[in-house]
Amino acid sequence: MSALGRDTVKRCVVRAQDRARQGTIDVDAVTEDAVAALPAHATSLRRVVNATGVVVHTNIGRAPLSDAAVDAVRVAAGHTDVEYDLASGQRAGRGAGTLAALAGAVPAAESVHVVNNGAAALSLAATALAQGLEIVVSRGEMVEIGDGFRLPDLLSSTGAALREVGTTNRTSIDDYAAAVGPRTGFVLKVHPSNFVVRGFTSSVPVRELAGLGFPVVADIGSGLLRPDPELPDEPDAATTLRAGAALVTASGDKLLGGPQAGLVLGRAALVDRLRRHPLARALRVDKLTLAALEATLRGPAPPVSRALQQDTAGLHTRAWALAESLRSEGVPAETIETVGRVGGGGAPGVELPSRGVAVDAALAPMLRTGRPPVVGHVERARLVLDLRCVPPEQDDAVRNAVVAAAARREG
Ligand SMILES: *Cc1c(COP(=O)(O)O)cnc(C)c1O
Repeated sequence: MSALGRDTVKRCVVRAQDRARQGTIDVDAVTEDAVAALPAHATSLRRVVNATGVVVHTNIGRAPLSDAAVDAVRVAAGHTDVEYDLASGQRAGRGAGTLAALAGAVPAAESVHVVNNGAAALSLAATALAQGLEIVVSRGEMVEIGDGFRLPDLLSSTGAALREVGTTNRTSIDDYAAAVGPRTGFVLKVHPSNFVVRGFTSSVPVRELAGLGFPVVADIGSGLLRPDPELPDEPDAATTLRAGAALVTASGDKLLGGPQAGLVLGRAALVDRLRRHPLARALRVDKLTLAALEATLRGPAPPVSRALQQDTAGLHTRAWALAESLRSEGVPAETIETVGRVGGGGAPGVELPSRGVAVDAALAPMLRTGRPPVVGHVERARLVLDLRCVPPEQDDAVRNAVVAAAARREG
């Protein structure tokens, strides 16, 4: 009762009583039936095993938090000094520790701010810096970020006018130079984070755009703070700022591996205008987000980084052991080579050689609805369980889930 609440427990009891009245179950079995129907947690969200091979999967919650971040959320969940100086007993800057951690991670940023997500960061920049003015942006960077949401629509909704330059495949510095002027709020550079244009293409790097003499706002998307040698084409905040961007915006729950958040980094005067704009209050992050973000920045490598760093030899050993163990339980399974992805708006086109276990595709629905739910992907009539994003300590849970799914299928 104390874990789930009176209403939830009552609903299960009433349903069990109804079933007894209808004769579906025995009267003696009411208690047992009610207990069996109780959910494990007070949230309808369930923990899912990500065996898709997609590291940042939007449909299953993007970045999983590190243990340090989960612990930080627990600490901050009660009353907390999020906006209070315990030494003086006075009000203090909200989330100062988190902002210091972010600033410390990117020394190239004069100042930083955190809002609810990447889209909020960009909306705030557009509202504070370009309302009633123009945002100059390449036609090759007018992107849809997913679920029908398009950046051009988001930007226009702030009251800024979009000044499109260039074409889908090619935009030159001359195109930008011809468009900037007294009506320019800023020049926008958007990282095409979920597609690749190949062939006869050209775009203008931030360094050249900065030479136009107008502020450049760069939406780098995935939230890499420093260059990652494994993802050489993915822009990062430090390099983009050093190239001359006035502001960088990014997400907290993609490659950074933290909670949903929007990061704003850059020149102090501009960050301050964003921070002080009335809209900033509507985009303010929760104490839980501040806690998880700080722990992600200061703590050990989050699961996203660990998933990206898995080597194929280690994955092969785990896949082999899993397949062997399944076969010993009478479940046909084989070790296979797979290709993982970064996913969720990051490093488009990058292939992550991985290893997994292939089982009968008919098990997919049973695995999705099992405890815990395991999500893989069906490929050539087989269900592929890619181990890259499965923490090694969950291998046994995956094995047990597959065995249980196979048993349900036969039963
Ligand atoms: C993901 C992404 C966004 C949206 O960020 P959210 O945190 O999902 O709001 C915006 N721009 C780019 C380039 C992105 O990759």
